[in-house]
Amino acid sequence: MLRFVPRLVFAFSALFLAGWPAAGLADQIPAKRYFGAAKLPSEGRAAAVGFYSKGCLAGGEAITVDGPYWQAMRLSRNRIWGHPNLIHFIEWLGREAATKDGWPGLLLGDMSQPRGGPMVSGHASHQVGLDIDIWLQPMPQRRLSAKERETMSAIPVVEVGPHEVDPRRWTNAHARLIKRAASYPEVQRIFVAPGIKKKLCETATGDRSWLAKVRPYWGHNEHIHVRLVCPDGSPGCEPQRATGKDDGCGAPLAWWYSKEPYRQAKPSKKPAKKRETTLDDLPNACRQVLASGDKPGTITALAAYGDDVPADVAAKAVALRPDVGAPGAPSMPHTLPQARPAVIR
Ligand SMILES: [Zn+2]
Repeated sequence: MLRFVPRLVFAFSALFLAGWPAAGLADQIPAKRYFGAAKLPSEGRAAAVGFYSKGCLAGGEAITVDGPYWQAMRLSRNRIWGHPNLIHFIEWLGREAATKDGWPGLLLGDMSQPRGGPMVSGHASHQVGLDIDIWLQPMPQRRLSAKERETMSAIPVVEVGPHEVDPRRWTNAHARLIKRAASYPEVQRIFVAPGIKKKLCETATGDRSWLAKVRPYWGHNEHIHVRLVCPDGSPGCEPQRATGKDDGCGAPLAWWYSKEPYRQAKPSKKPAKKRETTLDDLPNACRQVLASGDKPGTITALAAYGDDVPADVAAKAVALRPDVGAPGAPSMPHTLPQARPAVIR
């Protein structure tokens, strides 16, 4: 029976793509396939739709892959997209960090896919165009090649053993960069390694209110993750609870060091075989985002980089875009069924 399943899925997706009214059949297809297949953003006004870990991005904009104070990494992933607020944030942070904080420029990790949504690899969040990973490594003063942007790894600034910042790598400029980012009112929170939070708690002087936004979390030894608040004009954006006034340097930080060994592994609350997010799990507006045409004048990250892209990097970009349905299915539907009316429960 099992070997018929792919064929069944294919049959169902074919019905779905043809506009088969019985929505639900196609709901087995993971939403990340649709969003991973979209190369360019949707037309129309920019809006963050849904929650950071369950939503999408309408009318996304790309950050320039080479700015005066930043360079985008991992261009094959084409995750340089965000709400205009995120684009402006990067431009401002890059400039201020370089001119005031002694941080020579930002290396940009993942933002969102062109239409946001769940990703084929990596993050649970980054879905609505308001999240960005910034490497904790200063930008070199030369233009990185497309190949280097694929293969360079960010160097951790936290030592795995003691879970403290590595004094050979950590600098005051790191602290100034994070403080700068946290000081912007449009920043909702910043995820960092617990060792970084600890160091900031120990060394911050004067106003400490910005520390509330800096939150310890797993997996942030070599980058920070900055999240912006819901923008004006995005009524469908679901806000996250504000971080409050507590600087988080007391009990919340102690929790991370309360067990030996340090809670390195992220506990999984849910069973390992968790159901994939489907379009039905996302706001209805995300179906419209997928069905929209491409935003005029937009190009992928690799195309924006220019012409000296090695073949293997270009091939990687293609390989990362999944076919939507089963083998042989078209890569992207031109139209999707109209959004179904909300189910009344
Ligand atoms: Zn992130």
